[in-house]
Amino acid sequence: MDFNNISPLSSLGNTPIIIAGPCSAESESQTLETAHRLKKIGVNIFRAGLWKPRTMPDAFEGVGAKGIEWLRRVKAETGMLAATEVATRQHVEICLESGIDVLWIGARTTTNPFAVQEIADALRGQSEAIVLVKNPVNPDIDLWMGALQRIINAGVTKIGAIHRGFGTGGNHIYRNMPEWHIAIELHRRVPNLTILCDPSHMGGSRNLIPTLSQQALDMGFDGLFVESHCDPDNALSDSDQQITPEALQQTIKSLILRRKNQPNEVLNTLRRQIDDCDNNLLEILNKRMSISREIGSFKKEHDMQVVHTNRFDEILRLRIKQAQEMGINPEFMKAMMTAIHQESVRQQIEIINNSDKS
Ligand code: PEP
Ligand code: MN
Repeated sequence: MDFNNISPLSSLGNTPIIIAGPCSAESESQTLETAHRLKKIGVNIFRAGLWKPRTMPDAFEGVGAKGIEWLRRVKAETGMLAATEVATRQHVEICLESGIDVLWIGARTTTNPFAVQEIADALRGQSEAIVLVKNPVNPDIDLWMGALQRIINAGVTKIGAIHRGFGTGGNHIYRNMPEWHIAIELHRRVPNLTILCDPSHMGGSRNLIPTLSQQALDMGFDGLFVESHCDPDNALSDSDQQITPEALQQTIKSLILRRKNQPNEVLNTLRRQIDDCDNNLLEILNKRMSISREIGSFKKEHDMQVVHTNRFDEILRLRIKQAQEMGINPEFMKAMMTAIHQESVRQQIEIINNSDKS
């Protein structure tokens, strides 16, 4: 994939980039009041949804193109950049004609390659457009990368990503699970890509915003994309997760900005110790696999099945218990033992198949 043409989105400001505004533009007065109060606390990029993708058809679906004039007033009166969500070719065309500075693609749209391609086609040749791509609803990094690639292929170079959490089903404290490792993997694959965190849709609740925002910065995100409304309790959409501009100011003030990487002897020594541990882990894994292969040969000789779920259950139970006693997360231990077991089974099956052929 060719991500070489992109560079960090410097036009959005320095770390942390803050893009804030209401979930939806509801009226001219709500849009302008929110924007002025955000400008006052130092926010320079204003977000507001005009076309709202809602789960239920009877929910407030946004004011549509009528809100463009309100965003233009925000730009003229405050000097802020304006951002809105686009989901169709028509949305893109309206925004480009009216000077909307930043277009974002929502999570439901990123999930659908046809819709993303339609948006990409409408953006073709618009090398000045700034586009942000939210992660798809489902935790699929390739779908996210694919959407970014479609937009880049259309000639857009000013592109960034927004991690807004993933729908994983079940009851969690989060509205959308912050699968940080997926965003970190995106950063590893595309180091130049600006990645923001949307703590509002991730948490789904006002009180989770400060912690999620700090976690995002701790993990090296470039900034925040956050919902802020002049009167959150009476918001027509996502009321529970919107905060006032003044509450946002408190959150921003409380954020601790950590250094990216600082060469330091203490850190270097500790990192060398981590390298040693990893080498030991590899040696041990290699030893475990070779014992496992011996077991494979034994099972072959004695016509035994490869997988014995009782034995694996017993191993899992014991190891998880031991891990917990050491303060290691049981879910992590389960995932690790399951991965090791899968590889052991694969190697035993290989042994059996190979000796079958000989
Ligand atoms: C939004 O940012 O208003 C929005 C609809 O978000 P998402 O696509 O993440 O649900
Ligand atoms: Mn919203």
